[in-house]
Amino acid sequence: MHSIRYVGKELSCEGVTIASLVQQHGTPLYVYSQATLEDHFDKLDNALAPLDHLICYAMKANSNQAVMRVLANAGSGFDTVSEGELRRVIAAGGDPAKCVFAGVGKTEAEIEFALKAGIYCFNCESEPELQRINQVAARLKKIAPVAVRVNPNVDAGTHAKITTGTYENKFGIAFEQVEGVYARAAKLKNLRLRGIQTHIGSQLTSVKPFEAAVNKLLPLVTKLKAKYKFEFFSIGGGLGIIYKDALASGDPAWWQTPAAKDILTPATYAAHLVPLLQPLNLRILIEPGRFIVGNAGVLVTRVEHVKKTGKKNFVIVDAAMNDLIRPAFYDSYHEIVPVTKKGGATVSSDVVGPICESGDYFCKDRPLPKVGEGDYLALLSAGAYGSVMGSNYNSRALAAEVLVHGAKSAAVRTRQKIADIWADERLADWLK
Ligand SMILES: *Cc1c(COP(=O)(O)O)cnc(C)c1O
Repeated sequence: MHSIRYVGKELSCEGVTIASLVQQHGTPLYVYSQATLEDHFDKLDNALAPLDHLICYAMKANSNQAVMRVLANAGSGFDTVSEGELRRVIAAGGDPAKCVFAGVGKTEAEIEFALKAGIYCFNCESEPELQRINQVAARLKKIAPVAVRVNPNVDAGTHAKITTGTYENKFGIAFEQVEGVYARAAKLKNLRLRGIQTHIGSQLTSVKPFEAAVNKLLPLVTKLKAKYKFEFFSIGGGLGIIYKDALASGDPAWWQTPAAKDILTPATYAAHLVPLLQPLNLRILIEPGRFIVGNAGVLVTRVEHVKKTGKKNFVIVDAAMNDLIRPAFYDSYHEIVPVTKKGGATVSSDVVGPICESGDYFCKDRPLPKVGEGDYLALLSAGAYGSVMGSNYNSRALAAEVLVHGAKSAAVRTRQKIADIWADERLADWLK
């Protein structure tokens, strides 16, 4: 449950109105609720309490250092996918010993950095990668902790761009090949086979695919655990969040309505998975990203113009696909609400950004309150895969980010200065 709701007519994040944040920081503006981050982390942590477990927040969802510090303080480790992310963990005060390093293309330099930082485990996706990690570890006279990512060939039933657990995907090692891979890896002197990992996709709204994957892997994990003295089994991330009823779900009463009955909560997730996992007697890792941060954040934008074309009512705003690419990239739905509540009839509207791409839209033909120039809108559920996917396309500066904590707020990333967009560019000598 999140802490973004109307207080009177004003959309608020915890004890702060969004309107006051807009006045102070301008738009486009990301706003995050610390209480929501903590609540989501604690709900998962408590649900998994019967297991020896470690939550490794998948920081690719939102790697703002303030967000990471909140989670590190709550006891979180981190799922990292690059040297840059690992360096961010260290900068944010996180513990590398609670970090896993995932991804299909780790470079030698990245492996070396992670080994020296003392990470918990490399999650490996191919045999050449295992050999490379072994070589780097041998050169550094270290033993590298590794796990193999198993592709269980279970269809998560989610969007094609975020499903990862079938043989159509580049991720992991096919279920049938895993035993052989471990047997060969066991011969590599500078590896420690610390565990096993799987991840089947993102935005899963049912516990069934998780259950299917774990059930499929249990016999294999049991066998390999005995053989190699595994310490952990990571069941990945992927818990889905509410996008359609995002605003309503901030109200505790909503959770008693029929609409809430099918939502995948940490309690449901744990009720199905804990009994399966408990007999393994292994440490269980999970790598949630979206679940923790998705509904903890909103993107606030200003209405610049309303353009009626006869067929369409275009609401042109100052945020764009460079700030939040999810609608263009994944056809994602983000609920859009006015920052100050509006009465009256709704108008079927397309909310679009100013970028020169037809894909630069946030919604199409959606009934929205009538808004005009100078009104502000909030795009909900924007905390995950929002600012992290930001770009400078059209030489637009990266948006500012604010963290709210009760009645307090702080800029946790200042708006990028326009001249900084090209600060690393140089003219070739012959052009000077
Ligand atoms: C992206 C990813 C996650 C996090 O996914 P969410 O859907 O945000 O929870 C976890 N593990 C791996 C290996 C990933 O690639």
